[in-house]
Amino acid sequence: MSQINLQSKICERIKSLKAYHVDTCSTEIKLHANENSHPLDSRLMKQLQARLVDLPLNRYPDPDCAGLKQILANRLNVKVDQLMIGNGSDELIQILIQIFCDPGDALAVPDPTFAMYNIIAKGMGVRPVPFPLDEHWDLKAEPFLESIRDQSVRIIFFSYPNNPTGNCFSAEELQKVIEVFDGIVVLDEAYYDFARTSFIDQLDNHNNLIILRSLSKIGLAGLRVGYGVAAPEIIREVDKIRLPYNSNMLSQVFSEMVLSEFSLVEEQIDKIIDERRHMQEALQDITGVTPFHSDANFILFRTLCESRTIFDELAKRGILVRDLSAHPRLKNCLRVTVGTSEENSQFLKELKAIVQAS
Ligand SMILES: *Cc1c(COP(=O)(O)O)cnc(C)c1O
Repeated sequence: MSQINLQSKICERIKSLKAYHVDTCSTEIKLHANENSHPLDSRLMKQLQARLVDLPLNRYPDPDCAGLKQILANRLNVKVDQLMIGNGSDELIQILIQIFCDPGDALAVPDPTFAMYNIIAKGMGVRPVPFPLDEHWDLKAEPFLESIRDQSVRIIFFSYPNNPTGNCFSAEELQKVIEVFDGIVVLDEAYYDFARTSFIDQLDNHNNLIILRSLSKIGLAGLRVGYGVAAPEIIREVDKIRLPYNSNMLSQVFSEMVLSEFSLVEEQIDKIIDERRHMQEALQDITGVTPFHSDANFILFRTLCESRTIFDELAKRGILVRDLSAHPRLKNCLRVTVGTSEENSQFLKELKAIVQAS
């Protein structure tokens, strides 16, 4: 038996990290993770069930994800050799940083934004350079580019729409950044389906542009399927360093089936977009609550009272949301996912009661 000092062996850059925190509890109403609350259409569930019986799970999956890539290429009107598939788009974020950054290089992100860019960067010894968003959670290209000059920034990540603020940044300003920046610009379009605006048609003009998408927010979070579209030259580098078989057989086969019947998913997305508008108005009507505009499947809102109290009280009533108040710019801010209409009504009713009582 040996007992060494493990802490002394762990790299400093890893020791100083905090794990990405997801609240898990047995609450009935989960509006904290930006999932699609509607279960997969029962017709699709039946198809999946039937297919499961014949799957050769004793074999490795297709290492190239050829079937899935073909379906995506047709849907997106891009070439198969422009596509990368990840075990969630989180994995692709990690791979891209690995390809473009050496330890000591920097990555630029607006602030606040999706926490994983920073967490992944720091884990690889890459320095995140945050740029503060303005009071509308937007940014201007010129001051942004000015602020990252001489910082060894190799790659910029824009969450579009931005998580957790919910808005799309000004397209004109992003366009300028793509055109002027002498490095890689990643447009993380994880919430594309709720905004239906994209930079994907800019790929032909700008080989420094990478588009990331995900199936997580539109109903397949459990499958872990993310994909990226980029110049074939970039895809070839991705293929060198991604682990073999990074996309498993169930994820490939099931996502192919779901994408082939996408109208069934589209119906749910339409419902969520409708509900978002309704929820935005209802939040606006609660005294002491200020919602921000959203192009995604969640809404950020600020409360006059302590957001932690609201979080706790909602949890007691079986509703889980995300408390973002740890970020200095997001004091007393919470993020709620747009769920089913029943979930949303329940959330609004409880939130109103809690706010009025405090
Ligand atoms: C949820 C989210 C992701 C991660 O998506 P996965 O495909 O589930 O890994 C990436 N980017 C943003 C901005 C997200 O909110």
